[in-house]
Amino acid sequence: MGLGRTRAVSLVGLTGHVVEVEAHLAASVPGFVLVGLPDAALAEARDRVRAAVTSSGLGWPQRRITVNLSPASLPKAGASFDLAIAVATLAGAGVCDPVRVADWVHVGELGLDGRLRPVRGVLPAVATAVAAGHPRVVVPAANADEARLVPGAVVRAAASLAEVAVEHGAELDDVPDVEVALAEEVPVPPRRAPDLTDVVGQRAARWALEVAAAGGHHVLMVGPPGAGKTMLAERLPGLLPDLDEGEAVEVTAVHSVAGTFRPQDGLLRRPPFENPHHTATPASVVGGGSGMPRPGAASRAHRGVLFMDEAPEFSPRVLQTLRQPLEDGELVIHRAGGSARFPARFQLVLAANPCPCGRAVGKGLGCDCTALARRRYFSRLSGPLLDRVDLQLEVLPVTRADRAARAAPEATAPVAARVAGARAAARRRLAGTPWRTNGEVPGAWLRSHGPGPGAHRDLDRALDRGLLSLRGADRVLRVAWTLADLGGLERPGPAEVGQALLLRTRGQGAA
Ligand SMILES: [Zn+2]
Repeated sequence: MGLGRTRAVSLVGLTGHVVEVEAHLAASVPGFVLVGLPDAALAEARDRVRAAVTSSGLGWPQRRITVNLSPASLPKAGASFDLAIAVATLAGAGVCDPVRVADWVHVGELGLDGRLRPVRGVLPAVATAVAAGHPRVVVPAANADEARLVPGAVVRAAASLAEVAVEHGAELDDVPDVEVALAEEVPVPPRRAPDLTDVVGQRAARWALEVAAAGGHHVLMVGPPGAGKTMLAERLPGLLPDLDEGEAVEVTAVHSVAGTFRPQDGLLRRPPFENPHHTATPASVVGGGSGMPRPGAASRAHRGVLFMDEAPEFSPRVLQTLRQPLEDGELVIHRAGGSARFPARFQLVLAANPCPCGRAVGKGLGCDCTALARRRYFSRLSGPLLDRVDLQLEVLPVTRADRAARAAPEATAPVAARVAGARAAARRRLAGTPWRTNGEVPGAWLRSHGPGPGAHRDLDRALDRGLLSLRGADRVLRVAWTLADLGGLERPGPAEVGQALLLRTRGQGAA
């Protein structure tokens, strides 16, 4: 009888757990049993492991093999247990040194030819192992750069099972040559982030974007096609501050699990930008998929910007699913083996045409939409969603005068510097609360820490005349605080409240 032990990591959402993998080899009728509540993918692991061991020239032990993954209660998904199962088995058979094998954590999927295939989520998996006091990790070659981003990890990379086995003391005359399995191709990000200097004219919209960045406010932009809504939205991440260390690790982990991360670029330190198409399915926005679930666009936008162009055209189910992350900052994907959680705290930018045909601009001469059609179009953006949007702005096409102007438009850098100053002021004021930006502050707190005397007058008048709901008034106050932070004021006065009112009453749908 032989016993081999090693460790692997189970990853559900971004939550990892170290899993003990134990192989027990008995002199009985040959067989291979996996226990520990494995999912369907893990059952397939049995065939992959056996084929990989044989292809590597290591010989499959002709014994009764029982591999146990514990704790059994833990949901286990994906193929990243293959390597640990193979290595534990080889240790139990006496092919590898059981002491050395027990000392390492093994992560990786095996090909039938014995090559080690890269897996998603290596960054959070290795971080889990290190945090649990097991810093020595063997990973597939294509995942090595990513694994090495985890501070404190001792990483050994290998291209094949044979290579790992030899490291652990197996005697092989000939280590089979395998092609190194490459990671999924991830598009190269543009070298230069889009800059505000490309935006001609649009004074009001540029100002609104600066306010949105300073206060972390969600935004609705309404304007005809071609007015530049997408161009503006793409430039919002550039106005946001760098991610701090903790945020960078978290955002990188999300993209590691999503398979949208290039380890050669290092940790992601800038706020991401995601713009799902309006035909996107709920799963592609929320996340899902078989095996180890992938985070969707809403999670990939974590700590960055989620831009939804032609927002009323998104399916109502997609729009509805955004309520949870807007409230809790996370998405929970429920499935049979347990639920996966992904962080999803993003700044939402919605864009819409002024009407279904898109021509209701100015006097709206070219538009032939009925009043009912227009109302119906905007009603798709339900109340609960718009309740979270502090800023509503109209984006009009660039005028001829704007195009003729000589002065170059202000670039991103000076605007980002003003944003950073305003954010620092808000942070000082909100110290000791769970919030960091004005966009997160709930109404009750706003009302008890109100603006100066006199500042309420316009707000009260708008409330009295029914132009504003109580929630609407809260949103105006939030923006007024951001305007005060941008202006270096201790608290908003009548001017800030007046300006904030203008920044949300864009005509129709004011509430
Ligand atoms: Zn129209």
